[in-house]
Amino acid sequence: MKVFVTGGAGYIGSHVVKALGEKGHDVLVYDNLSTGNEWAVLHGRLVVADLADKLTLARVLDEYRPDAVMHFAASIVVHESVQSPVKYYLNNTACTLNLIEAMLETGTGRLIFSSTAAVYGIAEGSPIVQESAPLNPINPYGTSKMMNELVLRDTSAAYNDFRYVSLRYFNVAGANREGRIGQVYKNATHLITRALKTAKGELGGLEIYGTDYPTSDGTCIRDYIHVEDLANAHIAALDYLGAGGESNVFNCGYGHGSSVREVVAQAKKITGIDFNVSECGRREGDPPALVAGNEKIKSVLRWTPLYDDLGYIIKTAWDWEKKLA
Ligand code: UDP
Repeated sequence: MKVFVTGGAGYIGSHVVKALGEKGHDVLVYDNLSTGNEWAVLHGRLVVADLADKLTLARVLDEYRPDAVMHFAASIVVHESVQSPVKYYLNNTACTLNLIEAMLETGTGRLIFSSTAAVYGIAEGSPIVQESAPLNPINPYGTSKMMNELVLRDTSAAYNDFRYVSLRYFNVAGANREGRIGQVYKNATHLITRALKTAKGELGGLEIYGTDYPTSDGTCIRDYIHVEDLANAHIAALDYLGAGGESNVFNCGYGHGSSVREVVAQAKKITGIDFNVSECGRREGDPPALVAGNEKIKSVLRWTPLYDDLGYIIKTAWDWEKKLA
């Protein structure tokens, strides 16, 4: 298939582009390189352009005429979204509208959308959320993605030949085995990356944001998923839409979680470095526990995780981190 990939030079997008290449698909990456990198695009062609530029977007899509679109480009930092909500509604909500409009204009009818567990907000009862759970985001990042999901739902209802799969990512981490691509953020905010940068000596210490949550050890619980398993979920979604599958929404996670303290302990074990850790207050916008109910993606997309192991996730992230200057 010909696949148009927005944000394909970014962390998750570049792993999916690599997986698409390995499956023999043709790829065109559309990325403004605001957080992505040209060297991360290991397959296909890169067009450096912005989704806010509707004319360029429509022209590139019209020339390429893809069989499917994968849409990764987005702003993704929860606490930044609390401070700068308009940036999130523009980059995430409005730019996705531009993309959907351009797809309708050019007759491109299949979309795989990068959504997030943040659409759920605070899970009621069990920390394990199913796709049918109410959407109740507690930060603008989650709201911006939820709004996109609603637009996709309505668009697929209005146009028979527009179908989409929304993949709700839980906490994506790790890097590809060969260490060719991985996460590179100037101001990393994610736990595993910050822990490893602390181990490396790049950060003076790691802060644990909140130890008074209603969880087993008082710290937040998340479902950490290896980026290559997530990439395979995209390939499965592409095959599903290609086979005529109807519009659908899937959680992407392993179905069990780890606390911040457990992640810190694993990071110390794997790096062999007893780095400096301190405890501080809660970070705004953080739900206590989020774990993916994953029966649906396993049964409908026949997705089988290969790297369900926090140690492996941290090890591949550490191997990558050591390569960075
Ligand atoms: N966290 C932390 N210290 C850090 C970064 C993150 O204690 O330096 C916590 C954060 O409060 C959350 C969990 O680790 O409970 C995962 O945060 P991350 O930013 O990695 O992902 P999110 O769940 O926000 O998407």
